[in-house]
Amino acid sequence: LAKYRPARRLLDALDMLRQRALGWLDEMGALEGLVRLRAELPAGWLPILNYHRLHPDAEGQAFDRGVIDATPQEFERQMRLLTRHFTPIGVGRLADHVTAGVPLPDNPALVTFDDGYRECFTQALPILRALGVPASFFIPTRYIGERRVFWWDRLSYLVRWSPCDRIALSYPTSLELRLEGDRQKAIVRLLGLMKSTYDLDVDRFLSELAASANVRWDATLERRFADELCMSWDEIRALKRAGMEIHSHTRSHRILQNLRPPELRSEIAGSRDDLIRELGGPVRAIAYPVGRSVARHPEIARLVRASGYELGFTLGVRRFGPAPHPLDIGRIAPDRGMAPCLFRALLVHPALAV
Ligand SMILES: [Zn+2]
Repeated sequence: LAKYRPARRLLDALDMLRQRALGWLDEMGALEGLVRLRAELPAGWLPILNYHRLHPDAEGQAFDRGVIDATPQEFERQMRLLTRHFTPIGVGRLADHVTAGVPLPDNPALVTFDDGYRECFTQALPILRALGVPASFFIPTRYIGERRVFWWDRLSYLVRWSPCDRIALSYPTSLELRLEGDRQKAIVRLLGLMKSTYDLDVDRFLSELAASANVRWDATLERRFADELCMSWDEIRALKRAGMEIHSHTRSHRILQNLRPPELRSEIAGSRDDLIRELGGPVRAIAYPVGRSVARHPEIARLVRASGYELGFTLGVRRFGPAPHPLDIGRIAPDRGMAPCLFRALLVHPALAV
């Protein structure tokens, strides 16, 4: 529907109306009242927020802008609002509840971060500590240990810095792309190709892209970027010492449904081994790369369970009834620049804000 221009305009107009209506409700204090009311009622969903990066200047980034969910100031405001009405808990308490029936505190909520960006340590940790929020961090272990740049950031960098006005690729399929305007369209198209290709050789694809885009990319440069972008094991240990929880986000952040069985095992079981070796346990949960659910993939779900995980996290709204699917727990990612009224609405019910 959204592909047709009149329909797109209608959707945009409806969206603006909804935002205005929520703004008015918020000005009257009604949303704050609803959040308070929501705190008193047993809800059919559990607020689990999912962040990646906190950065003040998303538009100035050569790397992927899509993973910047908030500025540090926005994040702090959101955490203040959350702690005013909810009891933040870590993934461990949720696992105790889901697997052993241990009661949750009144009005629980979870804060999670995926990917292990450096701002988790430099920006999020001081805020979380000051407000007493035990957040849970999902780490793709190979990137931390080998100091590599995440594949989506590397792709964005190559497309944005290319001096060419078109790029041609032969792997995994032959493809020609014009690089127009802000190049976001080309980035989205290539990310889509990476996400949908079974058994993709990521390094081969990105090396060919660098050559075609005529952008320098080598091991020294990559290491320097990785040090800027992602946490070290020492920083992750410091998060843990500060009361945060560390769980798995696989090894290489490959989409599980696209992998052959031996790689699948390495990504799922191997990342848990890596975390236990580097940090000690417990590692009780996994967040699936790009939030892709494994609920309809019994062979992957079996492997997740057999590797010792009790919970699996996706993206999206899921009902949280008395017996939630332990390997299909939904999370909501707030948007960058989200109006405070929308964030409040999200806490009342995510369907109001997404
Ligand atoms: Zn991720």
